[in-house]
Amino acid sequence: MNLRNRLTLGIGVLFVLILLLGLQSVRSVRQLSVASKDILADNYNSVHYVEEMLRSLDRLSQDSTSRGVLINSLELQQQNITEVNEKEVTSALTQKIDALTDSVSIAQIQAIREDLYRVMELNMSSIRSKSSGMESRAEGAVQWLTILSILCILLAAVFLIRFPAVILRPIDKLKQGITQIANHNYDERLDFGDNKEFSAVAASFNDMACKLSEYRRSSLDRLITEKKRIEAIVNSLHEPIIGLDSERNILFMNDEAFSILNLKRGNIIGRNAAEIALNNDLLRRLIREVYAEHDDLEHEPLKIYADNKESYFQMDNIPLYINPVGETQQQFVGNLIILNNVTKYKELDSAKTNYIATVSHEMKTPISSILMSLQLLGDSRLGSLNEEQTQLLGSIRESSNRLLNITGELLNLTQVESGKLKLMPKIIKPIELIEYAIKATQVLTERFHCFVEVEYPEKISKLFVDNEKIAWVITNLLSNAIHHSPENSRIIIGAAQHDKQVDIYVQDFGRGIDPRYHKSIFDRYFRVPGTKVQGSGLGLAISKDFVEAHGGTISIVSEIGKGCRFTVSLPV
Ligand code: ADP
Repeated sequence: MNLRNRLTLGIGVLFVLILLLGLQSVRSVRQLSVASKDILADNYNSVHYVEEMLRSLDRLSQDSTSRGVLINSLELQQQNITEVNEKEVTSALTQKIDALTDSVSIAQIQAIREDLYRVMELNMSSIRSKSSGMESRAEGAVQWLTILSILCILLAAVFLIRFPAVILRPIDKLKQGITQIANHNYDERLDFGDNKEFSAVAASFNDMACKLSEYRRSSLDRLITEKKRIEAIVNSLHEPIIGLDSERNILFMNDEAFSILNLKRGNIIGRNAAEIALNNDLLRRLIREVYAEHDDLEHEPLKIYADNKESYFQMDNIPLYINPVGETQQQFVGNLIILNNVTKYKELDSAKTNYIATVSHEMKTPISSILMSLQLLGDSRLGSLNEEQTQLLGSIRESSNRLLNITGELLNLTQVESGKLKLMPKIIKPIELIEYAIKATQVLTERFHCFVEVEYPEKISKLFVDNEKIAWVITNLLSNAIHHSPENSRIIIGAAQHDKQVDIYVQDFGRGIDPRYHKSIFDRYFRVPGTKVQGSGLGLAISKDFVEAHGGTISIVSEIGKGCRFTVSLPV
């Protein structure tokens, strides 16, 4: 039976029972009311008349109106004869009352009283029998009403217990089904048995689940195909590639990466990179670089021994962000590590460094001998030169000096690049370095008519540095300051101490450097566009390497037109 019929039947039966209960109650109350009216009309009135007559009889001799009341009550009683024998007794009573004269004897009154008692007795016994009949009828009605009430209560209780369950059970089942679907369990199906109303809902639900399942299968197939395609692309790349999720779990890794990390495919994908890195030095280095705080630092290429040869890889760490569906804010989803094989460039670079080193070294001797010859040529003891010849000699000397400088710079550079930079530190006062630089640039200062001022505090710590290298740096800074200052300008060179650090600075009041070039001027071969002064663009790059090799820093403060202030900070 379907839910609607069950509901109709249940409520119908309950309605009929309540109707029966109501009808039975009305019927019983009416029966009782009729019975009590009968008693009142048939017997109670007779009893009342008899009592009236008895009272009038008692006052007959004293009260003249009593006879009238007696006769009146008698007439009423004659009209209210309802019981068997009541008529005979009433007519006997009538005869006796009619026979009463003015002088009434006690015997007459006694006889009338007896008749009156008999009438009263007849009515009283009728009242008793009628009220016992009413009682049994009332009991019957109570029994009926009780039975009907119990039936109603039972039915209502059954309804109360069963009805919510009947309605809610399918709804609960439906709710569970929807939850399963929401959790992507598309294999969930509903069955409501012979519940016709809900079986239609179940059919629609099952249909939907079936379609979703099919859709997921097809989407999954597509996704798997796409995933395989991407894996194939990643695998076809010659650079080792590692993909990490935001929790540092390994998402993918191509064959090249497996090879250089010396790992076997298998249970690596999906595992935490930090956990694998515990037993893998290279992966540990990569992870450390990925999560290093200052990722703007330039990273040195990694030297990796793979396939029986030494290779160099430059690591690229690309943080990955996506826009999740329905959201506008980007979400970090992991990192892509790409190792670019730079072995070839490294080899070319070291070949270049060797070449420059050899050439510079080989050039140093002939340049020195040129300078020596120039010295001899300028000596008046070997003969005097005319003015033109002296000028030519000066310009040859200048060019040869510049050539010697450049070869010196190139040699310094090759030292840094090949990692052969050896520091020979000594304890030295900062003023000694400053004085050395002033002396080395004295000729230049005179030529450009610059005034070098020295600022030096009374108390300053000594430094433990390779004096040649640092003196070279300060000289280079001072020489730059002279070259980039107009004639007759001031140049300040000085030192200051801040805690455990000594700053040596060179300040000029020349054309200054645009702040956008402040980073690049320390790059090799970089020269500020438009610089007319001749140079190689190597001086500041070498200075930076020299200072950093001492654990120090070199910095610039400058604005166009306001000169430059270069500061070398060295640990005490
Ligand atoms: P070089 O002086 O040999 O060109 P440097 O590395 O010493 O190479 O300097 C790089 C560039 O920085 C210079 O070419 C010049 O443009 C700029 N520069 C360096 N010092 C100063 C300075 N004191 N004032 C203005 N520009 C400077």
